Amino acid sequence: MDGVTLGYLGFGVRDLEAWAAFAVDVLGLEIVDRRDDGGFSLRMDGHAWRIWIEPGQDDLAFLGWEAADPAALERITSRLRAAGVALSVGDATARGVTELVCCTDPNRVPIELYCGPKMGDAAFVSPHLSSGFVADELGLGHIVLSSLDNSATEQFYTTLLGFVFSDRIKTEIHGFPVNLGFYHSPGSNSRHHTVAFGGRLPKRLHHFMLEVVQFDDVGLAFDRAVRSGVLIAQTLGRHPNDKMFSFYAHTPSGFQFEYGWGGRRIDDSDWSPTTYGQVSEWGHHPPGIIPRVRRKK
Ligand code: FE
Repeated sequence: MDGVTLGYLGFGVRDLEAWAAFAVDVLGLEIVDRRDDGGFSLRMDGHAWRIWIEPGQDDLAFLGWEAADPAALERITSRLRAAGVALSVGDATARGVTELVCCTDPNRVPIELYCGPKMGDAAFVSPHLSSGFVADELGLGHIVLSSLDNSATEQFYTTLLGFVFSDRIKTEIHGFPVNLGFYHSPGSNSRHHTVAFGGRLPKRLHHFMLEVVQFDDVGLAFDRAVRSGVLIAQTLGRHPNDKMFSFYAHTPSGFQFEYGWGGRRIDDSDWSPTTYGQVSEWGHHPPGIIPRVRRKK
């Protein structure tokens, strides 16, 4: 089945200037395409842009899924049409793509399926990173979405968009049950997961993950986040399933970002899903817990 890659993310945000400073100074992205409404786009790899910022209510505004070519896009939209999903033609020019088809997912998130993205005129150079991001043909990173109905969401992303189950994490954190399913795109995108979900969350998006090439760029981003006064959500740690070494912090919109290195790649010919009993092998602590641990000694 044709897979899709995570092509772009659209965020509706209340404080555009806070986002501009955060995206450059903390994430190490480049601002491109300033628009009349105050919005702008962000670049991180060979694509002309990967994150679209527009005025809004501090949540995910739309998700862009990239098909390999027009024929693959047609096969995917045929599956959606056959399943009774309402489709409409989107504004391809505005997004800088050659073809764009819109629908909504079972969580009422606007979905943009497209092919033929515009590429940047020159190589991407981050103002902060010693190297760059692991993106391009692997897509921009991964996302953890809110899911109003896990089986409907799984049905949509697997049987219609072509995702394949990677594994599951089932545990409890501070008394709250966690049951997250992780899904990858088959074929050339070997990223361990591109999308994950496991229940209803306050916003449409729990976090988006950006992966860097150089290990030290995670620590340097952590330092920039601390210096910028960004609220750290989870300290440095490593996940058992995708092996990502990462930290989590809040964006100016309240949903989180994960900044990671060393994410696992999947070879579909040699992969069997597992259920893990912990979210992290070590680390990923909420920072507030540290002084409490020290006081107990
Ligand atoms: Fe993640």
